[in-house]
Amino acid sequence: MEVIRGKDSEARRGERFTGTAWVGTPLKAQRPAGMRVFLVFFEPGARTHWHVHEGEQTLYVVAGTGRVQKSGDPGREIGPGDIVYIAPGEKHWHGAGPQNSLLHLAVTTGGDTVWMEEVTGDAYTKDFN
Ligand code: MN
Repeated sequence: MEVIRGKDSEARRGERFTGTAWVGTPLKAQRPAGMRVFLVFFEPGARTHWHVHEGEQTLYVVAGTGRVQKSGDPGREIGPGDIVYIAPGEKHWHGAGPQNSLLHLAVTTGGDTVWMEEVTGDAYTKDFN
């Protein structure tokens, strides 16, 4: 058993995010390709770049309103209590809505995350449901 004490969130910007996201103390993988858990707060307009997880990812929305999109599909709006399952290899992004913040828990298994290009303003704002 491991108990990992919480501490202040750290800001993430730049290579992997547009805008500012705050990442709380993570659970790092405890074994090769093991589960990782992150609590992420996205300021309004903040979102990840496009990326792919080699393993699975589940997002659980704790608070706020956000957006998620799989490459080639329309974006989806997400809110408190929503769960998003992302299969291995699916190119996607997730983040806050333009006017709202988003708090989600992310549980990821298996292997690395491959980071890609920024989500452009067009892709971020059109075709949400
Ligand atoms: Mn993801």
